[in-house]
Amino acid sequence: MNLYIDMGGTYLRYEIDNKLFIEKESNIVMLIKKLTQKYPIKWVFISCAGHTQNNIIYSAPNIDIKNLNLKEYFPNINFIIENDLNCAVLAESRYFNEKNIVAFYIGTGAGSGAIIDGHLIKGIENSALEIGHIPFRKAPFLCGCGKDNCIENFCSGSAIKKWAKYLKQDFNTFTKAPKEVKDNFLEALMFASATLITLFNPKILVLGGGVIENNQFLIKYINKNIKKYAFSPNLKNILITKTKLKNASLQGCKLLSN
Ligand SMILES: [Zn+2]
Repeated sequence: MNLYIDMGGTYLRYEIDNKLFIEKESNIVMLIKKLTQKYPIKWVFISCAGHTQNNIIYSAPNIDIKNLNLKEYFPNINFIIENDLNCAVLAESRYFNEKNIVAFYIGTGAGSGAIIDGHLIKGIENSALEIGHIPFRKAPFLCGCGKDNCIENFCSGSAIKKWAKYLKQDFNTFTKAPKEVKDNFLEALMFASATLITLFNPKILVLGGGVIENNQFLIKYINKNIKKYAFSPNLKNILITKTKLKNASLQGCKLLSN
């Protein structure tokens, strides 16, 4: 039997026996242990919001995991583990039937994945496309990766919470944030979107994640303003749109089993 898990920054979703479960703050080792006692699991496919390579989770700052090799805990189970945005773009590419597509998801963190000319772009450490950690401008606090100048410090769900704490103000969503935080968020959003479009020249830039789902006007905002940020030939035939998928990372992680 196959177990499919999406380890996001806030929620852990898993599917087994065609049933979907959602948990908050779940320990991955305990969860798999519990499920193996209930189901005859042979394969576990995981989409993880972090740096993964060769089925090892090297770091996942928003989940607080480091150097986790699940095979050491479960020697009789086969693991296939992939970065969550690599999984998401696989699902988006399948949905749109498009070979040149970039997924940009803003939830707890800000991540991206790209399939260009039909190839998933991975890099030698399987950590290409870390758009959230591209230097943007200095923030008065650190990103989960240890730097203080990441896009993710301005344009993510965790950024909004960090700014509220820093400013000693009570807000936890983009809508409720003060103008200064909103303006920085929008500038970082445009900077990130334009960087992805200018670098990869995709047919589709698809946005998703909790912050996008809760603030869908951001798609309109990007479409309206992208001309001022991206290389213009790359905008001639582009579609910038919101994801139509629910749990794209989980769906993409299921594609890893093909
Ligand atoms: Zn960072």
